[in-house]
Amino acid sequence: MIRAQGLGKAYGQVPILAGVDLHITEGEWWGIIGPNGSGKSTLMQLLSGVESPTAGSVSLRGRELSSYNRKALARIVAVLQQEGLDPTDFTVREVLEMGRFPFLNWLGREDKDATPLIDAIIRKLDLGGFEERRLTELSGGQRQRVALGKVMVQEPSLLMLDEPTTYLDIRYQLQFMDMVAEWRNSSGITVISVLHDLNLAAQFCDKLLVLDQGKVAGVGKPEEVLTAEYIRQIFRVEPSIVTHPENGAPQVLLTANSTWS
Ligand code: ADP
Ligand code: MG
Repeated sequence: MIRAQGLGKAYGQVPILAGVDLHITEGEWWGIIGPNGSGKSTLMQLLSGVESPTAGSVSLRGRELSSYNRKALARIVAVLQQEGLDPTDFTVREVLEMGRFPFLNWLGREDKDATPLIDAIIRKLDLGGFEERRLTELSGGQRQRVALGKVMVQEPSLLMLDEPTTYLDIRYQLQFMDMVAEWRNSSGITVISVLHDLNLAAQFCDKLLVLDQGKVAGVGKPEEVLTAEYIRQIFRVEPSIVTHPENGAPQVLLTANSTWS
């Protein structure tokens, strides 16, 4: 699906990301983890074509990313930024309709009627009672569901999420992740997500990529990457790793007073 080789980014003389190689195959869910400032968002911007690399290259479905025009790229890749959607005066339904932008012809119309698709997404995301509400009238959790709806309407093959659950309480965090998982199961999309919560990452992702100071510090299945040694080295905390009693995923427990500088 997407491949990066020797990928790097520098702002001026300052290297932010260097030597990133990865190969994500169709249908996989990858999690990108790492400390603040390790380059996670920068990597996402390079993989989604928002920024261009200063070294190396990205190919999407075997073609150089930079060779896609904006609309063609938007038919394959959808990006949900960390900030989600701004609270604007647009209604939920209007925002979802905007997600069809990549499919509009030069007259600004679409060949197929997207209404049934939008209706189905409204139902799936439990937004039924809100479709005529403005975004300013929604809670953060509801707005994040609309943001997910907008990228679903785009019908991408690759979904990129940058810390999508940061501002949500635990119920909405889990609900959001479950909705992405269900979407993936039903449509086979590939997902790349930056996640702060290592325990959710371990339960939802097939593979984790660890960034540390702009370099790949580890890649593998959650049980290969979320070891006490790795966590200690990269996050500088002393963790206890336990196995999730329901599904066997590695889970990271933190102990008070166990950081060091
Ligand atoms: P993360 O998402 O892992 O927290 P980022 O990719 O946002 O990290 O940032 C990595 C580093 O790059 C940080 O030190 C940040 O200050 C720097 N950085 C990000 N964007 C820019 C920019 N446009 N200009 C200069 N430095 C930047
Ligand atoms: Mg970031």
